[in-house]
Amino acid sequence: MKDILATIAKDHGTPCFVYFMDQVHARIDSIRRAFDGLLGVSYAMKSNPHPEILKRMMSWVDTLDISSGGELATGIRVGWPAERISFTGPAKRPVDLEESVKHQIGEVIVESVNEARLVDDKARSAGKKQRILVRIAPKKVPKGFGVNMAGKPCQFGIDEEVLDAALVDIKALTHVRLCGFHIYSGTQCLKPDAIAENYEIFLEIFRRFSSAHDVAPEKLIFGSGIGIPYHDGDQSVVLDPIAQRIQPQLAELKREPRFAAAQLLLETGRYLVGEAGIYLTRVLNRKLSRGSHICVFDGGMNHHLGACGHLGMVLHRNYQMFKVGSDRPDAPEQAFDLFGPLCTSIDTLGRGVKFPGLDVGDVIGVRCSGAYGVTASPVFFISHDPPKEIMVETKDGRTAIEDISIARSRAVVS
Ligand SMILES: *Cc1c(COP(=O)(O)O)cnc(C)c1O
Repeated sequence: MKDILATIAKDHGTPCFVYFMDQVHARIDSIRRAFDGLLGVSYAMKSNPHPEILKRMMSWVDTLDISSGGELATGIRVGWPAERISFTGPAKRPVDLEESVKHQIGEVIVESVNEARLVDDKARSAGKKQRILVRIAPKKVPKGFGVNMAGKPCQFGIDEEVLDAALVDIKALTHVRLCGFHIYSGTQCLKPDAIAENYEIFLEIFRRFSSAHDVAPEKLIFGSGIGIPYHDGDQSVVLDPIAQRIQPQLAELKREPRFAAAQLLLETGRYLVGEAGIYLTRVLNRKLSRGSHICVFDGGMNHHLGACGHLGMVLHRNYQMFKVGSDRPDAPEQAFDLFGPLCTSIDTLGRGVKFPGLDVGDVIGVRCSGAYGVTASPVFFISHDPPKEIMVETKDGRTAIEDISIARSRAVVS
């Protein structure tokens, strides 16, 4: 892999995101295999909305979960069939809901009773009936989730505690059809036991509300919560222990008449694309400052907010990084402080990161960069160029390297 990355850095330049699509495909297959085909896959587009990735996903996953009108437009433009699109998000604008109804997307995932009423309104005006799922905000998430939205005031979903009354109101609406439930209550968990326990919580909630309100769900969406190994010492999540515990429970659910027709979907973004992406950035300057070896790079926080510790991390821990290549023989390992190109002290890629020598012109790779990269970063800030994006995949038995960079504007005033 380092050879390919070195070639890409040389031929295409840096800074650059590289996506290894065979890995994405293999990951999706591994999910289907682990759960014996009982769990389909929903791709959370916000993790990486690149149109070329969306096109591949069309034949690899079951559904596309979007979170804005812009994502809806992109999804439709690349050819995703509307009926395979679901729409989550806490602030769906009336115009986004009009578009959703017009396209008759698979499901609008309603996050409040008000929103269900608004969908109902839009569907009535359009003379249509819109399928919806209700997003439930559970009381509990097990320990071990880097992001935990349960049991506290939250803009996402309808609180489990008030769902009974809400479902009565929603079921009374005439132009929406309640087709099932959705839960996404936490993410970035690397512990199989906690992940499995979370799905057990989902199953209990799905059963309880489906039977209390006589719903025979056509769809139940499990927000995966599965994390990726951003930091040294982290391990990729292995699905087998999760599947061993959960698969029989899914099979049991499917044997109950109420759930026989339910499509079960695992919804994830980072677990599909995160580990398959590497961010390449090059040392522009090196200096010694008060005893610290400092390297300044051609890309940083402007492309990769997460690697700089500003995407939900409380304390900045370094992402895993490695040296891609160098024309000089490797020097002994040494610790470096790594900074991006922005004129702000928070543009820090890492501190005390060890490399076998690092100097002007060297390129490093930042792992786990396939999700929440450029589109989750302040790419306009300070008007540097946007990063290149390169896709690597096997085509006709050969490794194809394709420049898929798209115009992401710099904030240059014309
Ligand atoms: C962001 C999001 C996801 C994906 O989260 P990951 O941590 O990338 O797996 C899934 N579902 C919903 C509703 C989301 O908002």
